[in-house]
Amino acid sequence: MFSGVLQKMTSINDNPIRYILEFESNFILMNQAINKEIHISKKGYCCLSCSGNIEIFANGFCKKCFFESPKSGDWVMRPELSKAHLDQEDRDLDFEKEMQLQPHILYFSMTSGLKVGVTRVKNMQTRWIDQGAVESIILLELPNRYLAGLAEVELKEDYSDKTNWRKMLTNEINKVDLINEKKNALDKLSNDLKKYKSGNDEVYKFNYNVLDYPKSVKSKSLKKSNEINGKLVGVKGQYLIFEDSTVFNVRSNEGYVVEIGLK
Ligand SMILES: [Zn+2]
Repeated sequence: MFSGVLQKMTSINDNPIRYILEFESNFILMNQAINKEIHISKKGYCCLSCSGNIEIFANGFCKKCFFESPKSGDWVMRPELSKAHLDQEDRDLDFEKEMQLQPHILYFSMTSGLKVGVTRVKNMQTRWIDQGAVESIILLELPNRYLAGLAEVELKEDYSDKTNWRKMLTNEINKVDLINEKKNALDKLSNDLKKYKSGNDEVYKFNYNVLDYPKSVKSKSLKKSNEINGKLVGVKGQYLIFEDSTVFNVRSNEGYVVEIGLK
């Protein structure tokens, strides 16, 4: 029996990708759990910011922390709202400087279809794997989050920034040629941003350990049920995929205290 606070799985970009579900004093190698029955039961809450046993509101945080923690400021989801480069505080200037004032990329990834996004250079492979991308390419390399956000806003008129998680999990992907699409996208950007073009045209590829993709999916969560059961047939993005076509998004269940049994 494994127990602890759920947090998103750690991934290792191997072929196939390896996932580890880590707790304070033990861990589960998820690829080895494929073909086994998993039983997850909810025992309580542990806010990832204050550690309180308080109902989780979003992103693993209780309501108070969600609205107060510097880790969930508006600039996280909307990079163009970053202000650390102006020395302006949102919730905690030291934290925001550390996170925002470091090299970022604007990228294309292929999740359910083509999507545009922003992430820190240090975090890029993890970001792509977490969203279940099968391919990705770097468009721009920028010195901070704000500029990456501006570039993303320019491309949002022509490209989605969202993943259709159902299609990602049923593996119905609208594939496009990323190198070709990178050229098209660079043509659309303003000159101020085009100068950050990345010379790296590598198409990164990701292979997930999924025995059989479901035809349609139904989501389960600890918010709605106290127990999650099923035979694991694969892991993609931050989702566990079960034999009966139900799926469990580990990331959106962060902050729940659970016990997990395997057999
Ligand atoms: Zn809290």
